[in-house]
Amino acid sequence: MVRRMSPMPSHETPSPTPLVLPPALARAMPPFPPGAVWLVGAGPGDPGLVTLQAAHALAQADAIYFDALVNEEVLRLARGDCERVFVGKRAGCPSPKQSEITALLVTAARAGKRVVRLKGGDPYVFGRGAEEAQGLVASGTPFRVSPGVTAGIGGLAAAGIPVTHRDVNQSVTLLTAHDASGGLSQRLDWAALSAGSPVLVVYMGFRLMDVIADRLLDAGRPADEPVAVVANATTPRQQVVRTTLGRLAARLDVDNVAPPAIIVVGGVVALAPVLGLAAAAAPEVVEA
Ligand code: SAH
Repeated sequence: MVRRMSPMPSHETPSPTPLVLPPALARAMPPFPPGAVWLVGAGPGDPGLVTLQAAHALAQADAIYFDALVNEEVLRLARGDCERVFVGKRAGCPSPKQSEITALLVTAARAGKRVVRLKGGDPYVFGRGAEEAQGLVASGTPFRVSPGVTAGIGGLAAAGIPVTHRDVNQSVTLLTAHDASGGLSQRLDWAALSAGSPVLVVYMGFRLMDVIADRLLDAGRPADEPVAVVANATTPRQQVVRTTLGRLAARLDVDNVAPPAIIVVGGVVALAPVLGLAAAAAPEVVEA
């Protein structure tokens, strides 16, 4: 779905002035020339987790193409007259094809605009950002990637779950259960993941959580292994449900949880009650 929603009504315009940075930081910002596309990570939701480079890009953008998971507050960092184009998936409508999005970006850049392609989290973590970047390179469009805080690391931290702890794990695996068709990926080696990765961070796993849990149980992970489902991390709607792999296989405990959600499996989840409660905005921790 492609929906243009510009310009913003002036009463909603947050700040008519561009981002003002202290000189030392301003010098660190790369120039954003007209005709270029920046692939920018918006972070997991909290506008406070937008990077300075992302804010710098948004303040200069002539056009922003954004996804469904981008917080509207983040869009307010753009100028009031900046064109805002929604290119995500909404209410059952399919998202535009990757080639269509790339074509929109290239056309806008060729028209001399400073174009921001704004994606949730980090653009290169399960966000198809690399595919868009390949399309931009192939078309000869000047582009830059601006990394963001990814939901499976920063979002979990905000929920009181560190993805590593020296006493718990020396490695962590980020995975998505989906392949391009939307079904369970056939390319994942569950036995290897189960044996080799003490902490598993699953993106886009909400719909298939029971299937994922079954695969891990079949591969030998214990039914009482701690699991957390963290939804809408870093937003006022954040929910943290602590459960176990066995209960996840039966989709227990998640009736009141709405995606987007990260599922994290492993011993680090046990730290949530301590580290989550210590956080400034205490998340809701539901004991299973
Ligand atoms: N590029 C994004 C991920 C895109 S894939 C990133 O780096 O975070 C979309 C998936 O990310 C969702 O299905 C969900 O699993 C996860 N996700 C994104 N934002 C989230 C949030 N605020 N809370 C929990 N999960 C989130």
